[in-house]
Amino acid sequence: MKETLNNKIIRFRGEKLNTKGWQQEAVLRMLMNNLDSDVAERPEDLVVYGGIGKAARNWESFDAIVQSLKELENDETLLVQSGKPVAIFKTHTDAPRVLLANSNIVPAYANWETFHELDKKGLMMYGQMTAGSWIYIGSQGIVQGTYETFAELAKQHFNNTLKGTITVTAGLGGMGGAQPLAVTMNGGVCIAIEVDETRIDRRIETRYTDVKAYNLDEAIQLAEQAKKEGKALSIGLLGNASEILPEMIARNFIPDALTDQTSAHDPLNGYVPSGMTLEEAADLRSSNPEKYVKLSKASMATHVKAMLEMMDKGAITFDYGNNIRQVAKDEGVENAFDFPGFVPAYIRPQFCEGKGPFRWVALSGDPEDIYKTDQAILREFSENKHLCNWIRMAQEKIQFQGLPSRICWLGYGERARFGKIINDMVASGELKAPVVIGRDHLDSGSVASPNRETEAMKDGSDVVADWPILNAMLNAVGGATWVSVHHGGGVGMGYSLHAGVVIVADGTKEAERRIERVLTTDPGMGVVRHADAGYDLAKKTARENGIKMPMLDK
Ligand code: NAD
Repeated sequence: MKETLNNKIIRFRGEKLNTKGWQQEAVLRMLMNNLDSDVAERPEDLVVYGGIGKAARNWESFDAIVQSLKELENDETLLVQSGKPVAIFKTHTDAPRVLLANSNIVPAYANWETFHELDKKGLMMYGQMTAGSWIYIGSQGIVQGTYETFAELAKQHFNNTLKGTITVTAGLGGMGGAQPLAVTMNGGVCIAIEVDETRIDRRIETRYTDVKAYNLDEAIQLAEQAKKEGKALSIGLLGNASEILPEMIARNFIPDALTDQTSAHDPLNGYVPSGMTLEEAADLRSSNPEKYVKLSKASMATHVKAMLEMMDKGAITFDYGNNIRQVAKDEGVENAFDFPGFVPAYIRPQFCEGKGPFRWVALSGDPEDIYKTDQAILREFSENKHLCNWIRMAQEKIQFQGLPSRICWLGYGERARFGKIINDMVASGELKAPVVIGRDHLDSGSVASPNRETEAMKDGSDVVADWPILNAMLNAVGGATWVSVHHGGGVGMGYSLHAGVVIVADGTKEAERRIERVLTTDPGMGVVRHADAGYDLAKKTARENGIKMPMLDK
């Protein structure tokens, strides 16, 4: 039953169109893919990942979106407002086929309380980042970013490898599930605390996690043994992080590195308070949501206090983009921001070169299409050893979820170049069907999120949210296939605005021109955003690539 979700979620594959063109077909297949039972965390509730990040507002809206896509002409644009299709206008063939706005609330009201009221009235849904913009590709979507983060941490603190180190984290959900694999790919040992056993099992099934432990002693023993032997090992430890971390301190067990990816951005539907079974949590969530939120926030404060104490005792500690520090600070933990966010600590230099989580998906459904594009990367970017290592490792270790796809961090210039290569491969028939090209919203020029992507900007522009809006407008006029503007992704309501973009390589000359434009402007916005903020590497990238910035040297 779950497999087909009452025949709503269909695995469209191959060359036969179910719509009036490949652009509409791509949207349809990606919407279905977001909700595929191999991809989404809770497809029966339309939840893709990240707490309650959804693909459509309700099943009625889902059906109407599907019907609209089937009927949509090649010169029309469908408008989707927080997961509900609201209009179709005649535009032109180079315009996006779909424009989406998700979870946007007027700033003075932009909090979870208002959101939940609107959600209850059926007026809104939470789009997270790639959930409501239909370019989620399962845990792979975050693996390379997580791998890059841990690789940079290893470079800065542990002689370039995590071999012989133990990392502790929590949360094995859609995104957090990438952590154990990213740690072992870097040669290290990982204990990932997760309160929901089914999530641990899912990560073991997909080989993101190696083994499961039911108690802390067992986990510590396994971890220390592997550390001593210099072996990579990941352990999913069943438990609540706000209880386990203090227990670790009590046992004098301090890991080498420490972070967290529980769904702390959402104190009601994401984080599970301490001292509760999952069933008790679910009951309280519906019977007394206010009490739930109170307990949840108090547990997060305990969790962050334990992280701070472990940091003082030597653990390299960082926030992994779930806004847990903000909640703890609001709860009175004054020094919650003493440990840094992962972007300023490890990722920003990449953003300065327009690098970010670029991805593509084979609409044919044939894994061979992705393996052929892997070969193209290895051939065309052979001078980039780090990238080639990544592709080889991804081929070996990453199991596809849903439509076959690949992620790799490419920068300004590289994305447009590779986009053309993919389009040529479709045109020549080397690939069996068109390919969708997109990215996460967690990218260099597409997000304003002061506790995450734009934390500690050099010029203090952390909260300036004009950039993602400019990014979306530019990508739309450039001819992206679908463009989205969201609020609250990653860090929760009130803390972020961000934009998504997806473009289809269908092998035509028109697509080639659109790809050249969009895959230049999109990472170009990242370079510009960081150059404008004063980062030398971004300024250099802008100059060397001839990006026109009227006030670059002023
Ligand atoms: P998810 O909702 O799919 O998974 C969260 C997991 O945390 C669940 O499995 C849940 O059971 C577990 N959990 C909740 N409370 C817990 C507790 N007290 N102790 C132990 N486990 C607990 O969410 P996700 O998609 O994995 O995202 C996780 C968080 O990371 C979100 O806040 C998201 O916004 C953020 N995020 C960060 C990045 C990044 O690159 N840094 C990217 C995407 C998402």
